[in-house]
Amino acid sequence: MKRMTCAQLGGPCDLAHEGETADEVIKKQDEHLKAMVASGDAAHEPARAEMKGRWKRPVSAMRWYKNTKAQFASLPEE
Ligand SMILES: [Zn+2]
Repeated sequence: MKRMTCAQLGGPCDLAHEGETADEVIKKQDEHLKAMVASGDAAHEPARAEMKGRWKRPVSAMRWYKNTKAQFASLPEE
């Protein structure tokens, strides 16, 4: 089990997501951004827009994904 925060994933807060894989925490972050924006939190809007826009920019999206996976891999197990 490893932990990455919203901030480590490009968001504005320090909420920690736990997961066994990078994909799992990325999915949790995606859901977190969606939920925060849905509840009216403006601070999470840029990160949410970026997350949505990644699919329109596959090259930078892949770079972000690789970096996030590498960062996750370098974290200690908890
Ligand atoms: Zn957050």
